Amino acid sequence: MQILARCPKCDAGLPIDVDAAGAPAAIRCGRCGREIPLAVTDAERADRAVDSCPVCGGADFYARKDFDPRVGLTVVIIGAAISATFYWFGRDLIAYSILAGAALIDLVVYGRLKDVTVCYRCHSEFRGAYRRTAAAFDLHTADVLELEYERRIGRR
Ligand SMILES: [Zn+2]
Ligand SMILES: [Zn+2]
Repeated sequence: MQILARCPKCDAGLPIDVDAAGAPAAIRCGRCGREIPLAVTDAERADRAVDSCPVCGGADFYARKDFDPRVGLTVVIIGAAISATFYWFGRDLIAYSILAGAALIDLVVYGRLKDVTVCYRCHSEFRGAYRRTAAAFDLHTADVLELEYERRIGRR
């Protein structure tokens, strides 16, 4: 399993590879130098499940598509550029087809994406072959848990 731990101090994403052979007991943030203790569970080392967040100890997670918005945007921008060229030459139909095609590619890519599990409190991300059990994002839960976490780490 690959974990993207979020530094509680500066929010930097810190990738950690975790497997049956072991997991680091702590990492140091490359940006701000903060020492972050990690409590990786057996289930996470075995890539079976995400049961407890190694960074903040929370057990509340949501699932979202592992989508890099930049990729989707690139497809749309390239599609729009090609489409504009055809539009310029009066080929409206081709222009619209290309735009529709770009949107379709986005949809297909989006549908094939795997879910990534995210910790409500500290926003650490968990990627791997484990069974997805987390529910979809819930704004109310996020509000409550983020506030609780930020109070605990002294950000508010
Ligand atoms: Zn940091
Ligand atoms: Zn967490």
